[in-house]
Amino acid sequence: MSPTTVVRGGHVLTMGPAGDLTGGAVAFADGQVLAVGPFAEVADRFPGAEVVGDDQGVVLPGLVNGHTHLSEALICGMGEDLTLFEWGERLVTPVGRHLTREMARVGAMLKGAELLLSGATCVNDMFCHTNVGSQASLGVVDGLEELGLRGVVAFGPEDMAEPDRHPVGDFLAEHEALAGRCAGSRLVGFRLGVGTVLGQTDELLAASARAAREHGWAVHTHLAEVREEVVMARLRWGRTSVERAADAGLLEVPVVAGHGIWVSEGEIRLLAGAGVAVVHNPVANMILGSGVCPLAALRGAGIPVGIGTDGAASNDSQNMLEAVKTAALLQKVARLDPRAVSAGDVLAMATLEGPGPSALTAWSGRWSPASGPTWSGCGATGPAWPTSTTPASRSSTAPPRPMWPTSGSTGPAGSWMVSWSATTWPPWSRPAAPWPPPWPPRPGSADAPAWPEGQSRPRAPLVRARRPASVRST
Ligand SMILES: [Zn+2]
Repeated sequence: MSPTTVVRGGHVLTMGPAGDLTGGAVAFADGQVLAVGPFAEVADRFPGAEVVGDDQGVVLPGLVNGHTHLSEALICGMGEDLTLFEWGERLVTPVGRHLTREMARVGAMLKGAELLLSGATCVNDMFCHTNVGSQASLGVVDGLEELGLRGVVAFGPEDMAEPDRHPVGDFLAEHEALAGRCAGSRLVGFRLGVGTVLGQTDELLAASARAAREHGWAVHTHLAEVREEVVMARLRWGRTSVERAADAGLLEVPVVAGHGIWVSEGEIRLLAGAGVAVVHNPVANMILGSGVCPLAALRGAGIPVGIGTDGAASNDSQNMLEAVKTAALLQKVARLDPRAVSAGDVLAMATLEGPGPSALTAWSGRWSPASGPTWSGCGATGPAWPTSTTPASRSSTAPPRPMWPTSGSTGPAGSWMVSWSATTWPPWSRPAAPWPPPWPPRPGSADAPAWPEGQSRPRAPLVRARRPASVRST
């Protein structure tokens, strides 16, 4: 048995019924938490233990990064003026054709170290690439093991935009290889990845959903991240990506979905009923201008919501503590209400509340003996940890107060999120200067997305959109 270590702090945030222990400590050895309590009691119980920390710092369960892409580890800081679709088309997709298993290993170690330094002890990764046959995603498992960081890894392919489309079986082969690699890992688990519902051909989406059901694999995907996704899904299938995921049988297994921003009240009920967990990625959403996650509506419907950084190429870092803080700040300013979400709420989302037992909680730290020591400590004078006298502020259980009116428009999940209207959705993308869309786009024109042969066509026409004043020609 290895020597026992006692970590003490001015505050031990148990994130459980014991609440905030002032002057507390945690003892652990051999990967197990042995005791949590007042420092004096814990020190007396383990007299020979090494003591780490002091009476100033904060000790808390390890943060769980609920959604990221270590496939972007080596390309951060390159997309700050692009919308999601432009960013994907110009940066992430081209890079993804060249990623290798060794790049994945190195990148996972580089960004994994950043996660550890910011308090994360577990990461839910979706490695996205189209270097088919390279099995690059297996390199993430190599890197996390080398680093000693817990995780769950998925391979998130998209084949709609690939000029030389590979057989569906090639993608399934990497899912199976990754599952096999994870099965032999002490630290890393597996999920089946679906890059996005919209980014996959109907064949790959159907095969992925079928494989998940047959193998009992949980799924990691993105849902309802930007307005364009909703519009293009309606063009392609006559329904949204959330509805399409349900149609395809993807929601019949445990699902963790990044974002959940552009969802209607009906879709929130659908996701809640299917037991889907959502991961909120505030920094990436702000950098790409994607929107504001309706946290209160999702959590109010019983959907477990975790916090993630998203990939380094849309976040510019993997600082998990920054993501937690930003999650609270974004809700406050979006709702014009400093009570919109508390520090205690977002800390709970990033530790134990997060996506529930069917999703992420199993990896997270628990403050009881016999649990894994996935926790982290932050010195009160550390570079990113604020000095605080009430670090575990109360979780806000009060219903949201009425919000300032939003110019008469109706938004999903109760009209508070942002001001928008279905009649003014730009059908292809925002009118960014480098890619001005025709208005309205003509099916089959050079500016309209080309639907590959054999793929399902739009079943319902898009609502007739007004051309926004910002792109109206003179
Ligand atoms: Zn993502």
